[in-house]
Amino acid sequence: MKKQKEKKNVSKSKEKKEDNYYCSVCGREIDEDEYESYDGMCWECWDDQLTEESEDILGDVI
Ligand SMILES: [Zn+2]
Repeated sequence: MKKQKEKKNVSKSKEKKEDNYYCSVCGREIDEDEYESYDGMCWECWDDQLTEESEDILGDVI
């Protein structure tokens, strides 16, 4: 009798990229798109910064 070799589905194991990105302000996990689009921040912190900056500008003008 022949012994059947067990085939291991190695190829099936997903190769997940371990490149996780985290917001540099609040530390929450973000995806690469967000990281690149928002200067390493999540869009909420990025939005916060924009608001602060525009407030600063307004403050100078007034
Ligand atoms: Zn954030």
